[in-house]
Amino acid sequence: MQKYDVVVIGAGPGGYVAAIRCAQLGLSVACIEGWLDEKGKPALGGTCLNVGCIPSKALLDSSHHYEFLKNDALEHGITASGVSIDVNRMIARKSKVVSILTQGIASLFRKNKIEWLKGHGRLLPDKRVEITPVGDETTEISVVEAEHIIIATGSVPATIPVAEVDQDRIVDSTGALTFNQAPRTLGIIGAGVIGLELGSVWRRLGSEVVILEALDELLPAVDRQIANEAFKTLQKQGLDIRLGAKVTGTGSNNQQVIIHYEDKEGKHQINVDRLVVAVGRKPNTSFLGAKEFGLQLDESGFIQVDDQCRTNKPGVFAIGDVVRGPMLAHKASEEGVMVAELIAGQGGHMNYGIIPWVIYTWPEIAWAGKTEQDLKSDGTAYRVGAFPFIASGRARAMSETGGTVKCLAAADSDRLLGVHIIGPNASELIAEAVIAMAFDGSAEDIARTIHAHPTLAEAMHEAALAVDGRPIHI
Ligand code: FAD
Ligand code: AMP
Repeated sequence: MQKYDVVVIGAGPGGYVAAIRCAQLGLSVACIEGWLDEKGKPALGGTCLNVGCIPSKALLDSSHHYEFLKNDALEHGITASGVSIDVNRMIARKSKVVSILTQGIASLFRKNKIEWLKGHGRLLPDKRVEITPVGDETTEISVVEAEHIIIATGSVPATIPVAEVDQDRIVDSTGALTFNQAPRTLGIIGAGVIGLELGSVWRRLGSEVVILEALDELLPAVDRQIANEAFKTLQKQGLDIRLGAKVTGTGSNNQQVIIHYEDKEGKHQINVDRLVVAVGRKPNTSFLGAKEFGLQLDESGFIQVDDQCRTNKPGVFAIGDVVRGPMLAHKASEEGVMVAELIAGQGGHMNYGIIPWVIYTWPEIAWAGKTEQDLKSDGTAYRVGAFPFIASGRARAMSETGGTVKCLAAADSDRLLGVHIIGPNASELIAEAVIAMAFDGSAEDIARTIHAHPTLAEAMHEAALAVDGRPIHI
């Protein structure tokens, strides 16, 4: 039986990064992955590369260009006549982007001498793992042994009984990345990150989009001021977001999906051509044999781990979406690095308090650290500094003046506690705030740092100055 220092189960951004870091540290590594791509071929990269972060951002970028040409180019003096969208070509570009990147992971595996075992892994006693092959029926079931196991089996879309996914009329996020034309009317259940991003894609391409959200407020985890601004902006763009609207059932007639929902005013029914169920994701332990192996799971099915991703079984770690914490690719990857370094005998630490979040609507929404509502409920004394992009020279030159940067700093020490952005390129701007917080920086540290002019980053500089009541441009 082949024995490895480390066997990783799952090759999403958690598993493949863990495997590469282990190999860099001189450990022998195998990574078991059972994903099959659109053509039925085994593929690395997990949800993120195949049906998550990357394809959704590819479609967001394409649809953003289309909307710019249709609505905004003229302001720049550009006449774009006869602008049309070939959805199939757009989807084909997305698939090409995905396949280049997933093949890139395969070549990184070869470079780092990581063995890719193609199939589903199931945990056996004594740190052995059984591999049931996929894609290639000629290969037999095999078993490998490991000194350490890293479980990185990720998550799958959550389902609700009132809207069963058939991947035709009623789809999940994966189905919504492959429509061959923009539906005339599109319903979305759930106004979370995925619902808002996919809703934006199809709205820009011409669909009338209605998003039904059971909660009374949009994006409860986001700073309230920023979430309220996002709500107004997205509604203005034409996304019909209905809050407090709980979907209670669906049906169909020949052509359409009938959605039944309830809100404060009573019961309603709407008909749409397609419906996306975007009600969150759940941890994936199917195939893994977690319970038989004796792994402790919590009541929602997440594998229980400590702060350093150790499970209740010695030598067995779990990382990424299958454990507690935000379901984000970079969180999964960083846990992968931490665990690899722990296995190699190094210290392993991760600062869970400053994981950046991004919602890739336009304008983008990004934040890290505490929200104002968090600080109020903790009873922490703080100061706020905010700066609107309407006062930024660079944003004005780009005609992208919507949005705000908001810094929250401790009232006594001035330490940065949270930074919240809605605005152009917020996904890139948030990195500065995360670095500052990682070094326990203060608002004054950002305020004293020279920012290039003219840049969008100057809005962060001004927001930091505003914490002390001394912004220059407002
Ligand atoms: P996954 O990426 O889910 O990978 C798990 C892998 O394990 C899969 O390849 C699966 O086939 C494999 N596996 C499972 N069980 C077994 C088994 N028994 N044997 C072998 N292999 C197995 N996050 C961001 O940070 N930014 C974004 O912009 C973003 N956009 C998203 C957009 C969409 C539409 C979706 C759905 C998600 C998005 N996410 C985003 C979330 C992100 O994709 C996940 O947080 C991330 O993929 C989690 O990584 P992971 O390695 O834990 O799991
Ligand atoms: P997220 O977990 O961030 O992806 O968001 C999923 C959203 O779907 C949450 O905000 C839920 O409130 C919402 N949701 C779940 N079930 C329903 C339902 N039956 N009707 C409307 N919204 C729902």
